[in-house]
Amino acid sequence: MTMISVQQAQTIILQLVAALQETETIDLEEATGRILAEPVSSAWDFPYWDNSAMDGYGVRFEDVQQCSLEHPITLDIITEISAGINPKILIQSGEACRIFTGGMLPDGVDTIIMQENTCKQGKKVMILSPPKYPGEFVRKKGNFYQAGDILLRPGVKINEPEIAILATAQCSTVTVYRRPRVAILSTGNELITPTERLQPGQIVDSNQYALKAFIVKNGGIPISLGIVKDDPDLIEQKIIEGIKTADFVLSTGGVSVGDYDYIEKILDELGGKIEINRVAMKPGKPLTVAKFDNGCVYFGLPGNPVSALVSCWRLVKLALDKLSGIKGDYKPTLITVTSHNDLSSNGQRETYIWGQLKLTNGEYGFTSAKGSQNSANLINLGLTNALAILPIGVTTIKQGELVKVLAL
Ligand code: AMP
Ligand code: MG
Repeated sequence: MTMISVQQAQTIILQLVAALQETETIDLEEATGRILAEPVSSAWDFPYWDNSAMDGYGVRFEDVQQCSLEHPITLDIITEISAGINPKILIQSGEACRIFTGGMLPDGVDTIIMQENTCKQGKKVMILSPPKYPGEFVRKKGNFYQAGDILLRPGVKINEPEIAILATAQCSTVTVYRRPRVAILSTGNELITPTERLQPGQIVDSNQYALKAFIVKNGGIPISLGIVKDDPDLIEQKIIEGIKTADFVLSTGGVSVGDYDYIEKILDELGGKIEINRVAMKPGKPLTVAKFDNGCVYFGLPGNPVSALVSCWRLVKLALDKLSGIKGDYKPTLITVTSHNDLSSNGQRETYIWGQLKLTNGEYGFTSAKGSQNSANLINLGLTNALAILPIGVTTIKQGELVKVLAL
């Protein structure tokens, strides 16, 4: 199999992934970050009823349209309507009601005069300035939304604005797609957990935790399969477990050309269709992607901690979005900003340089992480929120020049 471009890898991966169909109904209070699975509409117009946009007086337009400071019109105040009251009254000609913001308009009232343009005298009010048009300062029933129209469509991620809309439509429960299940597996004889005592030659399995964080952050349920030694039988067992229980399996390590790199062979023996085994990106070249008959997609990520994360940020993220049921075009968030440093690449593969998008004098710029840009160096990854991308053939981007950045 040949090495393919990042763009080709993206296309292939997205073709392999089908959006989840299974749904569950959950409390609105639990719905933040979930993906809506059915269209939502409301039985109520919005505003629910005509109401006042101001503190002031409810009047009949025709009563007051001729008034002025020199010739004010005086009306009888016959009732007071604050927000939440149902005014079962008819305001007749020559009458007005005191009304507060959000107060429901009584019959007869079609216009609100703001308090500042009135003068109250006992049980009467003088209107000192005419309304500009009938209906001024009235929030009309159904003006923003009409009952039965679609409020939110399936595939929308539910964040605070959507929560407000769902609450307004009195959806105390919401039907969402189930969360994707993603199994995570670390391969390598050298790996120990953070609680084991480090022996010479060993390394802590940071990938397990980094990938778990990535999955949680992107709305999935991580299933930790732990560490597995570089033993084909043990790896095979774990992979079978992953494929059976999860929508995606992410493993790290064992995908290069070393003697202990068994993943691709095992995937093949288990009936996986290998779709990708090398991508022209740096870091992240030895990415293996396979699809199984039950729909599970397997991502064999490189073992180097930075490579594993870069592959997730650039490619797995889009796949996870599609799997989750999010409607969209599944494109990476690329923005063009000024580089605050010289950036370099050997120009052979699409190169990803980690660092930070930072605001300086109101403009975003990219600053690469200090220290070694080496895929085995996770120490300078902290605070990374963006990856600068140098296309194949580009070897340098000078400080002050524009660079394309993947925002994380
Ligand atoms: P591999 O792809 O298995 O050859 O691993 C490449 C490099 O990544 C090696 O130096 C490994 O020690 C390191 N590595 C592999 N797996 C992990 C892991 N789970 N956590 C941290 N480093 C790892
Ligand atoms: Mg290894």
